[in-house]
Amino acid sequence: MSTTSPLPELVPMDVAGRLGRLRAAFDGAGVDALFVTHLTNIRYLTGFTGSAALLAVTPDRALLVTDGRYAGQAPREVDAAGAPVEVGISAEAQRELVQAVLDGSARIGLEAEHVSWASRDRYASSWFPNADLVATAGLVEELRLAKDAGEIARIRRAGAFADAALAEVRPLLDEGLTERQIGLELDTTMRRLGASDTSFETIVASGSNGALPHARPSDRRIVAGDLVVIDIGALVDGYCSDMTRTVAVGEPSSTQVRMLEVVLAAQAAGVAAVRAGVPAADVDAACRAVIEDAGWGDAFSHGTGHGVGLDIHEARRVGRTSTATLAAGQVVTVEPGVYLPEHGGVRIEDTVVVTEVGAEPLTLTPKLTRVAQEHD
Ligand code: ZN
Ligand code: ZN
Repeated sequence: MSTTSPLPELVPMDVAGRLGRLRAAFDGAGVDALFVTHLTNIRYLTGFTGSAALLAVTPDRALLVTDGRYAGQAPREVDAAGAPVEVGISAEAQRELVQAVLDGSARIGLEAEHVSWASRDRYASSWFPNADLVATAGLVEELRLAKDAGEIARIRRAGAFADAALAEVRPLLDEGLTERQIGLELDTTMRRLGASDTSFETIVASGSNGALPHARPSDRRIVAGDLVVIDIGALVDGYCSDMTRTVAVGEPSSTQVRMLEVVLAAQAAGVAAVRAGVPAADVDAACRAVIEDAGWGDAFSHGTGHGVGLDIHEARRVGRTSTATLAAGQVVTVEPGVYLPEHGGVRIEDTVVVTEVGAEPLTLTPKLTRVAQEHD
């Protein structure tokens, strides 16, 4: 087992500026306060990482309410993040604490995509009976789109952990292990390097399993002639990375070689299309054109990519029907694939930052790798 030296401190994130940007969106959303209940959004706005909290935001106040389990952690994290947020600790009086802050607000926004019907009824009848409740969509998610330097540093480090784990584990692919064993090695290696967790359930899909884009690692043994789709990501300070590589074990067939070449070219075309100001659908079209030209359009059965940040799948979606335009600082994946049950699957995926001039990759593992060659 290799030992790791302490990692350099990560660039701080601009948590302090986020509430101001949220308040600037109130008018457009027709609200004079926002009641934030989605934990990931609360984390984004305050730095609080606990498992239960509410956040009331008015033009001049912000109150985070949580329970006694977080009496020490909540003020400490909010403080460390530099977030201009008051903290209220109570298991029983959460409603009263929130009401006290939102009392003068006539139009209170709720996060419509995250509030259950039952909760909405409860907020209307007993929490805010004198206010109009307004369904808002994506107010905080919109802020989360463009990553600051600190966020990109975290995703970059998460990408580096996945790169290092794959480099370490890849030689095991021709040792007759099962998908599950390889997956476990990848997961523990990322953790040992310093990742707090995986950013999603690792995919190791060999042979015909590889033709299922979201296969789970099984007890199938990896054998010569397999294409092995490995889709992994690490988590660093809440931020995800996402990368897929496909490895040919042993001598690939001519069809498998062609699949690898086509997907490699499609992925490169997609990355080359990424730039601020480009419609996300154009990135999808760039990937798809290469695969369609090869006659495998129907075998590319999913969208080209998705945003990555605090969530492994977040806005912007990069697909055929995407209507949004990419902007600098957004982090998206480019991950075309071809899936043919008789031959297996090939997917190649990078997480990239959108810049004014193109795309900067945050996942750097070399593509098109053959295990057998590397042992020569
Ligand atoms: Zn992935
Ligand atoms: Zn992905």
